[in-house]
Amino acid sequence: MGQQGEGAPCEKPKRSFPWGMEELLASKEIWLCASCFTCVDRCPRDVDFTYISLALRNLAAREGYIPEASRVVASTIMEVGLAYKIPASRLRAREKEGLPPLPSVDAEQVKALLEAAGLGEVLAKASSRRG
Ligand code: SF4
Repeated sequence: MGQQGEGAPCEKPKRSFPWGMEELLASKEIWLCASCFTCVDRCPRDVDFTYISLALRNLAAREGYIPEASRVVASTIMEVGLAYKIPASRLRAREKEGLPPLPSVDAEQVKALLEAAGLGEVLAKASSRRG
């Protein structure tokens, strides 16, 4: 059953929620959930909105609706296997300072796994939506 507590991250925008399916999947609001489970703890009807939110994002992504920041991070992971492409200048500076090499990532393997999971297709659709 629900319990009182601090406000949830999703409560901050105080915007009305769109209800048409296309509008819902295109909305930024479905990406605000931080998966904190506060609503699950508080809901008097035992609605598990955390997983509803995840399902909506999956549907939205399949339709090409992904926030720009998430799209950029996903594209970088596809390219280099990490969420951030470490600049060559930084790697050279580390070497010059005598720091040990950073852990290596098999970017091709990461890319193959993500392609198999359909991320390449999702990102292509998201890019085409951007025009
Ligand atoms: S889990 Fe629930 S309370 Fe937490 S951010 Fe997501 S929708 Fe809001």
